[in-house]
Amino acid sequence: MAKKEEPIVSCSFCGRSKKDAKVLVAGIDGHICDTCAEQALQIVQQELKLITTDFKKGGFNLKNKPKEIVDFLNQYVIGQEEAKKVLAVAVYNHYKRLNQKRDDDVEIEKSNILLIGSTGTGKTLLAKSIAKFLQVPFAIVDATVFTEAGYVGEDVESILSRLLQVSNYDVDAAEKGIIYIDEVDKIARKGDNPSITRDVSGEGVQQGLLKLLEGSEVLVPPQGGRKHPDQKMVKVNTHNILFICAGAFEGIEKIIGQRLNTNIVGFKKDANENELKKDNLLRHIAPSDIKKFGLIPELIGRLPVSVHLNPLDKTALKSILTEPKNALVKQYKKLFSIENIELSFEDAAIDFIVEKALEYKLGARGLRSICEAIMTDAMYEMPSQKGIKELVVTKEFAQTNFEKNHKLNVDAA
Ligand code: ADP
Repeated sequence: MAKKEEPIVSCSFCGRSKKDAKVLVAGIDGHICDTCAEQALQIVQQELKLITTDFKKGGFNLKNKPKEIVDFLNQYVIGQEEAKKVLAVAVYNHYKRLNQKRDDDVEIEKSNILLIGSTGTGKTLLAKSIAKFLQVPFAIVDATVFTEAGYVGEDVESILSRLLQVSNYDVDAAEKGIIYIDEVDKIARKGDNPSITRDVSGEGVQQGLLKLLEGSEVLVPPQGGRKHPDQKMVKVNTHNILFICAGAFEGIEKIIGQRLNTNIVGFKKDANENELKKDNLLRHIAPSDIKKFGLIPELIGRLPVSVHLNPLDKTALKSILTEPKNALVKQYKKLFSIENIELSFEDAAIDFIVEKALEYKLGARGLRSICEAIMTDAMYEMPSQKGIKELVVTKEFAQTNFEKNHKLNVDAA
């Protein structure tokens, strides 16, 4: 008698056969494979988030007052009080704007934000933390990858592709999201005068960004990259998308100083004094300084809220190492506790790490690579050594390991 043929079992969503899927879960009338189940989970989570924040019903929940936003930010971001306050108010007003009733002639305009501050002072962290609080789609893009349409590089529109991707292609959700554009200072026009030669990655990109910031309907290639004729485009309206632009604007203090007619002779005399003066000068930043730096006036006009971040001093760096929810010291302790080893840092070791970070001028960004250099050998050896219950990181331990391993990490930073 002929053997009864086994029915072919496959995923009812993507058609993947049983032998091609890692796991195939059977339902009453079909199957789902591991890949589709994961995707379904992501979609469900995103949908639930959107429903809880009331987006589908027409707006952000204004129960989140600016003070509560700052309280939340305090859990993750050390210092930068002014930036926190300005951001919280801007975001709150942005969502008020989304909820506004059109019953009179007053229209609340969008308040895109410009963050100015050296590398590693917490610009990205602030924006990320705000997006986490609001539970809105949030995309980070780097302005340096964009070029004017028609040149090698990415079209400015692909910024929106990223936002669409993190919104699981839910256009409604994406249209109320936040886009963080890093290194916006790098697309500055070289010099104050409009250039005679074409400035492919400078002014042209600024013009492209301007269109997005102003609020317009843009055709977006959903997968990103270059537009090409047979790719299906998605229409995204940027009218309600909040843009946060950020940059270090290296050298802008000199422009501010010149305007204020401040004598900045001796600017490089002493590292601490230098930081202090730079900080003081950034406090006085005006749109004309940003224009002189090379951003076009139209773009500056679309970034009405600007705030500077302070350089991080010793105390701030020390707190960053130990205090935030996700502080590095807490992370290393957790890694060691998994091996049943109690890890602790002497105060002098923490001071050593902070001093090295100041030396490298990478802000808090340098802390991670310094810690890695110090901890790598221990993390390599400890798991195979029996009977060790405790590791105390002293200044000597930190110094020896740092000197042995840091080159590698500094190169990678
Ligand atoms: P940037 O200003 O260059 O955008 P980031 O926000 O990316 O800097 O910071 C780099 C890293 O340094 C972050 O992952 C964060 O852990 C840490 N960091 C920077 N500034 C702060 C801060 N003010 N408070 C807490 N952590 C910070």
